[in-house]
Amino acid sequence: MQLKNYMEDFVLQKLDSVLKLYPDCCDCPQCRQDIAILALNHLPPKYVSTDKGSIYARLDQMSLTYGVEVLEEIARAVEVVSEHPRHEEKP
Ligand SMILES: [Zn+2]
Repeated sequence: MQLKNYMEDFVLQKLDSVLKLYPDCCDCPQCRQDIAILALNHLPPKYVSTDKGSIYARLDQMSLTYGVEVLEEIARAVEVVSEHPRHEEKP
């Protein structure tokens, strides 16, 4: 059985474009992961079987249905992580 949460791909796909709007937000791997996790925990998971259909066709469909909601959740997560980054402080 092959299951995949497409919401995960979708959030990762949109992460960069949202981060561009927040030049002050750290984009180290730790912060990027925290932002993705925070956003995903506020969004409904969308599980599909990986053995049929193209991922990208599905992402287009998701974009129409959840585009605005996903961007809002990522933006919110960026703000939270900017205020409380968990990465090591640089000396
Ligand atoms: Zn960071």
